[in-house]
Order: sequence, then structure tokens, then C-alpha cells
Amino acid sequence: MNEQIKQDFIKAGKISAEALEYGKSLIKKGNSLLETTELIEKKIFELGGKPAFPVQISCDDIAAHFCAIEDDTTIFENQVVCLDLGVHVNGAIGDTAYTIDLSGKYDDLVKAAQKALEEALKVVVVGTELREIGKTIQDTIKSYGFNPVRNLSGHGLGLYDIHTSPTLPNFDNGDKTKLTKDMTFAIEPFSTTGAGVVGEKGHPTVFMMQHKKPVRSPITREVLKEIESYENLPFAERWLTRKFGAKANFALRELNQLSIIHQFPPLVETSKGIVAQAEHSIMIDDEGNVFVTTSL
Ligand code: MN
Ligand code: MN
Repeated sequence: MNEQIKQDFIKAGKISAEALEYGKSLIKKGNSLLETTELIEKKIFELGGKPAFPVQISCDDIAAHFCAIEDDTTIFENQVVCLDLGVHVNGAIGDTAYTIDLSGKYDDLVKAAQKALEEALKVVVVGTELREIGKTIQDTIKSYGFNPVRNLSGHGLGLYDIHTSPTLPNFDNGDKTKLTKDMTFAIEPFSTTGAGVVGEKGHPTVFMMQHKKPVRSPITREVLKEIESYENLPFAERWLTRKFGAKANFALRELNQLSIIHQFPPLVETSKGIVAQAEHSIMIDDEGNVFVTTSL
């Protein structure tokens, strides 16, 4: 990894951490989920980064991929709120998440995910097998009496590539692949009161470019041009409807039918378990030094 890319990963991580702190201060009873989402996205730009993906605020049994549409009316009340955000600087990504329990009933669930992340970070060194990270997360979450979500995992962070190899499991999956020098990745334990499996459910509001292909419709072509400015990173339906109105929905439908974009519906715990998440991004440099880039 050259020095410039290394510095960009560090900068993206720092901006992510600051945006997360700001976001945490807004997740309070009575505040609007949509307004909070947009204030955080604005903050990311103000701090000198760009969103690596739209800000996700997933509540209760929704584990991930909930991204407000422009007329979302959710008000924070008694939810368990997972805030997940990503920042990129020249394509180098920081990805981080934190959970706030507004119900007062799930403090332990939040602690389980947080502690699992802390324990996992302790075993991050060159040579650690991926299964060891998974086992650490699983054992920690189980010690609180909850289950890890098994079909969500940490992931490599590439340049302009939010989900690349390796996959860092949230349970012992037997993968003996080792952490190496010159690696950037995110670790993200999810704890749940449920069985620990998520499935796609509901209206997708997050999309990503998949295959470039020519399109005929002028409306779709105009929207596609905007989508190309997101540089193959995930984007929100809301970003487009704010700019193009209902034309954006028409274009998204067409682009999805043509498999030019891929859609990501919300991921919901299938046994309706409440879910908490914690996440940090990590860089192991060429010398094997470990940096948690998204810690303040
Ligand atoms: Mn994330
Ligand atoms: Mn992630």
C-alpha cells in the first residue's frame, strides 16, 4: 500500500469516527430519522469526505440496509437504533457503526455487540485465522445470552470497493485463512435476541452499479449519468429523488430490470429478534502495524 493510500484510509476513518459521534448525538427520542440521516451525510461532506454508502439507520429487528426515503416519517421513540455509516477519501473507506438503545430494555444486547468488537480487535494481528475472530465474537455474544447474526459478516475494504475479500465471520466458520500485512477490512458483530439469521424484506432504497450497459430512455440516461458519479459505490434512492423527482423511480425500475444496478432491500432478523451492531475499520500496514482507523 503506498503512503498516499494509507493516509487516505486514515483520513476516511477519522472522518467516519467524527460523523458517528455527531450522529450519536442526534439519535434521541423525538428526533426524525430522516433529518438525522441527512444531517450526518451533510456532516461527512463538511469534514472533507464523501459517503462510501448512504447513511443507514436500522431499528429493532432490522439489522442493516434501512435507508430513509425522502418522505420517511419515522420518529425516534423506543427503538434500538443501529447507525452505520461509511466515508471515502479518494476511494479509501472507513466503515463504522454503533447502536443506541432508546427503549432502556436492551442495554445488555448493545453491550454484547460492543464487547464482541473489542474482544475481536484484541486478536487482530498478522497470522490470526479468520475463524478465531468469528469464534471470539460468537463466544462473547453468547456469554451475554444472545446469538450472533451468522449470515452477516465483516469484509475487506478495497479502493472504491466496500465489500471485498476476506469475509470476517461472526461465528467460528472454520476458515483458516490468515490476516496478513497490507490489509484493510471491517469487523462488525451483530448480536440478537433472535435465532441469528437475517433475510431480505421490504422496499429496497439502496442500490449499486452492477453492469454498465447502454440505455435508450433519455430519462434513464440522465439518471444513470448521476449514478456514475457515485463511482461504483452504493447510493440512496433519496439522493436521486431529491434531484430528479419521480423520474428517478422510473429510472431505478428500468435500470434494475436491465441488471445495470443491483438493489439491497432491508435485512431483517427472521425470528423478529432485536438486533444490535458494532463496527470498526482496521488497517494492517506493510510492516504489520495494526490501526483501528475509525476509533477516535
Ligand atoms: Mn457498516
Ligand atoms: Mn461494513
